Amino acid sequence: MTVRAGREFLAIPGPTTMPDSVLQAMHRPAIDIYSAEMAGLTESLIRDLSKLFATKGKSYIYIANGHGAWEAVLSNVLSRGDKLLVLESGRFAIGWGHAASLMGAEVEVLRGDWRRAVRPHEVEERLRRDKEHKIKAVIVAQIDTASGVQNDIEAIGKAIRASGHPALYMVDTVASLGCVPFEMDKWGIDVAMSGSQKGLMTPPGLGFVAANDRAQEAHKKANMATPYWSWSEREGTENYRKYAGTAPVHLLFALREAINLIHAEGLENAFERHRLLGEAVRRAVAVWGEGQVLGFNIDEPSERSNTVTTVTVKGADPAAIRRYAKDKCGVVLGTGIGDLEGQAFRIAHMGHVNAPMVLGTLGVVEVALNALKIPHGKGGTDAAVQWLGESVSA
Ligand SMILES: *Cc1c(COP(=O)(O)O)cnc(C)c1O
Repeated sequence: MTVRAGREFLAIPGPTTMPDSVLQAMHRPAIDIYSAEMAGLTESLIRDLSKLFATKGKSYIYIANGHGAWEAVLSNVLSRGDKLLVLESGRFAIGWGHAASLMGAEVEVLRGDWRRAVRPHEVEERLRRDKEHKIKAVIVAQIDTASGVQNDIEAIGKAIRASGHPALYMVDTVASLGCVPFEMDKWGIDVAMSGSQKGLMTPPGLGFVAANDRAQEAHKKANMATPYWSWSEREGTENYRKYAGTAPVHLLFALREAINLIHAEGLENAFERHRLLGEAVRRAVAVWGEGQVLGFNIDEPSERSNTVTTVTVKGADPAAIRRYAKDKCGVVLGTGIGDLEGQAFRIAHMGHVNAPMVLGTLGVVEVALNALKIPHGKGGTDAAVQWLGESVSA
C-alpha cells in the first residue's frame, strides 16, 4: 500500500519545483530572435539579474548549467598559470577550483571543513602571507548545497580588504540568489555567478555571471578566454551576440516569469519566507536529533543555510528514508553527496516553496522515521508548526 498518488513533490536542491506559471510561460512558439520583442526581453533580464546580484556591473546570460557559469567566470578573468585560492566549506568551491586546474590555473585550497563555514580571519591571514600577490582570485560558495553551510560573504569580503590584497573576490550563488541577501557591490565582490534551476525557479539550462569594473579590467589581460564565454564577444547591442548565437528563447520566457514572481512577492519578502521556512525545518530536525540517529551536518546553528538542510544519519540507512519517502509518500528528498554520500539526506527549502510544501515534507520524513523504526525525538513536525504559528503574525 502507498499514499503517493497525485503530484510527486521534489524536495531536492535543484532542479527545484517550478511554479505553474513558469511552466506555462514556455508553452508558446518561439519568437524572431532578431525582433524588438527579443531584444527587449534580453535587456529586461540582464537589468533584473544585475538587480538580483545588487551590482551596477554587467550581467551575462549563458546557455549552461552552474558548471558552465563557473567556466565562464574563470575563462574571462584568468590566464594560464594564475593562482587561485579556493575556500573550502563543502563540495562546490572545490568543484569550481577543479575546473580551474583543468583549465590551467594553479589552485590552492584553503582547507576548511564540511561541518562549518569558512573562517574569514583564516582568509585574511593567508592573503597577508602572499606578499608577492601571486593569488589572482579567491573563490567561495555563498551556500554549499552539499554541506548545507551558509558562508558569511560580507565578512570574507571585509577580511580580503583588510589584508590589503588585490585578488579578485568571486562568489558562487547558485544555491542562494533570490533566497538570501546578496550584495555584490556593497560586499566588495568582483564576480558572482548563479544558475536558473534552484532559487530562481526556472528549468536547468541558464547560467548567470555578473562582473564589476575590476573584473572587466582583469578580462582585458586574461588569456583563458574562449569565444563562447568571452565577455568582449558579447559587447555591443546586437541581441544575437548577447548569447553568442541563438537565444534560449523558451528558457528566457520562463526566467522572465520567475523574476516577475519574485518582484510581485518582493525580494525582501522572499528572503524572509526562506528564513521562516528554513527555521521550520531546523526546528523539526533538532527534535528528531534527540533520538541520537539524525543530526545537523553543520555544527554551528548560525551557519546553517536557509535554502537546504543537510541531515546526517548515524546507525541507520539514509537511502531507506529517501526510498520510503518517495515510493510510499511521493516526496523526493535529496541524497547526501561528496563526503556525505551514504551518511546523510538533504531537505531543500529554496525557490518555489511554501508552508504546505515544507510541512508536508517534514511530515513525510516523520512518517518514514516511524515506519522504519528509526529512533527519533517525537514532535519534530509539531515544533515546525509551533515556530510558524509564533513567527508568521496573524
Ligand atoms: C548546484 C550547484 C552548482 C552546480 O550547478 P550545476 O547546474 O549542477 O552545474 C554549483 N554551485 C552550487 C552552490 C550549487 O548548489
